[in-house]
Amino acid sequence: MSQPRNVLVTGGNRGIGAAIAQAFLDAGDNVVITSRDGSGPQGAIAIAADVTDSASVDEAFTQAEEKLGGPIEVVVANAGITKDTLLMRMSDEEFASVVDTNLAGAFRCARRASKGMLKLKRGRLIFISSVVGLYGGPGQANYSASKAGLVGLARSITRELGKRGITANVVAPGFIDTDMTRSLPEAQQQQYLAAIPAGRFAQPDEVAKVVRFLASDEAGYISGAVVPVDGGLGMGH
Ligand code: NDP
Repeated sequence: MSQPRNVLVTGGNRGIGAAIAQAFLDAGDNVVITSRDGSGPQGAIAIAADVTDSASVDEAFTQAEEKLGGPIEVVVANAGITKDTLLMRMSDEEFASVVDTNLAGAFRCARRASKGMLKLKRGRLIFISSVVGLYGGPGQANYSASKAGLVGLARSITRELGKRGITANVVAPGFIDTDMTRSLPEAQQQQYLAAIPAGRFAQPDEVAKVVRFLASDEAGYISGAVVPVDGGLGMGH
């Protein structure tokens, strides 16, 4: 078994983020989860942070490094929100806040994490996007744009930091059974289900295991990739 690594998962108190945190705990890693509120799986260290606030993100990393006694080696930028509505009705606030959380939030975490990773001469950045990022979705111009932006973010980081032992990848889940999707109207859920070749929705741990693989030694030569976990919905993009 490899040495325990210091892992930080944003939005790790529930849903996909909690499953990701649990997967790393199961592998024996040291795990910090952040969210605005909430504690995450047993065994993880919970730190409050708002990813829309640079000072809050920087402070959370500083606290995490102190508690774990060293830099964070694996960052999973998972925190995300939706504010779905049709284009002609979408307010500036609805567009900007979703991009600020989903895309700029991931950027803030990557920027802060890169300092420690450069010192370590290794690191794994994993951005949780969505099938909707590359597939699009009616009523999701804000969300889709934010999730597509993560691809450019990961690929630019790959080009910038690839020689420093740092990888940056995107995981694009399809329809996963969490609070976010349970809040969708039943008719919309049935529409998605009909379009998924696997014929079912996924459980959060099916995303978590892919994330853990991308953070593993075995995945050291994968960078700038978009890895779908969507039952075939996006056909590999
Ligand atoms: P949930 O709504 O269950 O959880 C969202 C998480 O993000 C919570 O932990 C929440 O913490 C955190 N969060 C939201 N805003 C902020 C913020 N400003 N600062 C810090 N944390 C914040 O979502 P899911 O588990 O379903 O989704 C997780 C990720 O996966 C998201 O990025 C989502 O877009 C993506 N995804 C989900 C899919 C699905 O089918 N469920 C499909 C494809 C992608 P808090 O408790 O503070 O609100």
